[in-house]
Amino acid sequence: TFLPPPDARVSGSEPQGTYNPGELRGIIRVNQDKCVGCDTCRENCPADAMMGEIGVAHKIDLDKCIACGQCLINCPFGAIEQMSFVDEVMGKLNDPKVVVVGIPAPAVRVAIAEEFGAPPGTLTVKKLHSAMKKAGFKVYENNLAADQTILEEGGEIVGKIRYWVLGERSKELEEFGKHPFPHFTSCCPAWVRYAEINYAALLPHISGARSPMLMAGPSAKTWAALNIWKVDPVKVYTVGIMPCTAKIFEASRPEFHAAWKFLREKKIIPDNTPKFPDIDAVLTTRDLAEVFRRKGINPLEMPEEAEEKITEMYTGGATIFGNSGGVMEAALRYAYQVVSGKNPPSWDIYAVRGYTKYGVKEATITLPLKDGKTITVRTATVNGIKNHLDKVVKDVLSGQSPYDIIEVMNCPGGCINGGGQPVQPMGTSW
Ligand code: SF4
Repeated sequence: TFLPPPDARVSGSEPQGTYNPGELRGIIRVNQDKCVGCDTCRENCPADAMMGEIGVAHKIDLDKCIACGQCLINCPFGAIEQMSFVDEVMGKLNDPKVVVVGIPAPAVRVAIAEEFGAPPGTLTVKKLHSAMKKAGFKVYENNLAADQTILEEGGEIVGKIRYWVLGERSKELEEFGKHPFPHFTSCCPAWVRYAEINYAALLPHISGARSPMLMAGPSAKTWAALNIWKVDPVKVYTVGIMPCTAKIFEASRPEFHAAWKFLREKKIIPDNTPKFPDIDAVLTTRDLAEVFRRKGINPLEMPEEAEEKITEMYTGGATIFGNSGGVMEAALRYAYQVVSGKNPPSWDIYAVRGYTKYGVKEATITLPLKDGKTITVRTATVNGIKNHLDKVVKDVLSGQSPYDIIEVMNCPGGCINGGGQPVQPMGTSW
């Protein structure tokens, strides 16, 4: 019942071994033998990073590249490749001394089925978990970490409201005085890198919350390893399973070694333990399909697993992270509850959710306070950096922005259209 393995265009992955932490080199690259210089990648690159004349093989300007992979999934000639950890992860899965933890992102569960012939959009949450376990992974839900992210980021938004809107002053709130509105989300590593390269003055506005993957990694290596799985944390090898090639870059950033630091400080591991990262490897959705194929597993044939462990539980607010507006909606749900002391009339905040062909979805949300007053929050959800972000940012930098909270996802419509997803015949630049 398997489909034949995908050709190079669909897989888009090439084993390239290890990479230098914090560097983009090799995460996305143009195969000079395949590139015909059609320029489609330049049309889809949000960072103006593609170089080359029409008809001549293109190159990537690594000082501008944000590793989002939009060039890869839109290249009609399969000439753009992504660093692959498939071989390394296969080796770890086959090593009984290693505890391999898979961290599946929300957009993966709606796309992996496509790689095995199901119609686009087929949802396979429990089948995916079953297939991952059969392949040898323990599952730590990225959605569980997305719930953590919202506690962090929603807490920041509430802190900023208390400091900047309600005028409260206390030691507890001092830090929020350094981070003015508008507040920008931080879950998308391509967006964060784009801001670092192009708009450094904006950084104090961007949430300090780690992305869900970078919350899941250290949580798996500390809390779950010690309390749930009861294994040696040093043996845990964490694999982000992402719709996204920029996550490969994010995992390699040198600042993400929180589990190593924590475990040494608590004397759980010896002082001389070599440094290890919070996330050891990233597989894209295409890569996970390749792991399943090599293991002879078709997720569509797996059972809907009934048992749900604590590392696999999460809320609906986490699942919607996979779509544009999801982080915004989840943060607003949280903020509403905290500032009003009650649940919102509906958990669905359609005004901020989903794709808009205009690129920026605007909304005005009223939050009731506990004293009966109300505050108004103006939001913008940026559906893809390309063509849409720069005006929003320039307004912020010139003090003209009408918004209080801005969600930015690099990919059109959000992670569901990420550069690590199955290649769509029509591309993503709709
Ligand atoms: Fe990755 Fe999602 Fe950002 Fe696209 S929108 S670069 S898939 S995090």
